Amino acid sequence: MAGTTRPDVPSGITVRRWGAGNGDGLVIDVDSNGGPPVHGIGVEPPAGSSRANGPTWAYVIEDDGVTLIDPGHLGSFGFLSDGLKVLGMAPADIDRVVVTHGHWDHDGGVAELVEASGAEFWAHELWQAYSPYSYGQLLRTDESPLRAEMSRMGERVRENGPRQYGGGGRKPGGAGRDDYESVRSGMKVDRELVDGDRHGSIEFLHTPGHWPDELTIRLGDLIFTGDHVLPEITPHPSMAYDHPADLAKSLPSRYRDAREVWGLSAYLRSLHRVCQLGQGLTVMPAHRLFNRDRFRMTDERRAAETIAFHLERCDILVDAIESGHVDLESATRALFSNRPLTDGYHLMSAISETISHVELLEENGDVRVVDVEGGDGARLELTGSRHYRDVIGELIPG
Ligand SMILES: [Zn+2]
Repeated sequence: MAGTTRPDVPSGITVRRWGAGNGDGLVIDVDSNGGPPVHGIGVEPPAGSSRANGPTWAYVIEDDGVTLIDPGHLGSFGFLSDGLKVLGMAPADIDRVVVTHGHWDHDGGVAELVEASGAEFWAHELWQAYSPYSYGQLLRTDESPLRAEMSRMGERVRENGPRQYGGGGRKPGGAGRDDYESVRSGMKVDRELVDGDRHGSIEFLHTPGHWPDELTIRLGDLIFTGDHVLPEITPHPSMAYDHPADLAKSLPSRYRDAREVWGLSAYLRSLHRVCQLGQGLTVMPAHRLFNRDRFRMTDERRAAETIAFHLERCDILVDAIESGHVDLESATRALFSNRPLTDGYHLMSAISETISHVELLEENGDVRVVDVEGGDGARLELTGSRHYRDVIGELIPG
């Protein structure tokens, strides 16, 4: 850390090595309240990656062998093994690597770690089912007028913006997304996890919605939440995609209805599940555990706050439509009126989040999306009901 004053260290955390103000390189021990030894490493993204969320936090649990959760990006292996060294460990000490979900900043580093360590690779069973598909194949624009419009806007933004969205070169994944996807598509999961599986004192819960294969991993009072619950920021909900058609037939019946695992409704139900796990749980997030020179500890109440946040967002969106913001970009700019959305990346992220909300409102019969005949757009119409208020409200405890 720069300067002479150290930040406060919360109870339950012991710093083994200080790192940067955003947590890069920070290495900690975590008190598991009488449970097995637990450690955390702020794994820096490789050069050229987005640094908006800081490091990916990898966690090491010494319980019935050594389990490592979320090794970080493809290209981060040097930072990960450096952190392990601070803990007196080497990659070869890792028996298994588990990923919270199939995003590049979480599972991108699995192949390098497995090769260096001989560790097994564990993930939710949907991780394996989805792994042959590129993000482009999953995030389909032909499934709804709004997503088609988002795609057209993306094209326009790509032609203009200095920070490109989805184009060649600099990618959110750092190492090119093509590299990442080719590594990912060749990987084999050694143990496919399902909801409720256990290993030693570790329990795996399926909490889809930010991504279909998301796991929340519980060890006593600690919950390793991946991107499902984060301090400081609200995770990006997925849009309500369908499964790829050829995949849908072979999936176990519990996932056949894609709405179980994709979209804001699934996400809110999974947050509700975390609220139900009990009280006094400590969230071990994959991002922002330490940021702006401070630990950002949070607990299960953050899940309830996140549900309430989305209820309020739906209110704002419905009010915006009511006051005439009936096309996607205008509704998005009204919903995100506190942010300038001047660059393509932030604009397109905001658009996709708005679509997630519109899809939830459509599901509940509160909004209709009308495909404008002959035009390049879709119009949002209110039906007059606000069923979403009860549906989301029921998910908020207390
Ligand atoms: Zn993610």
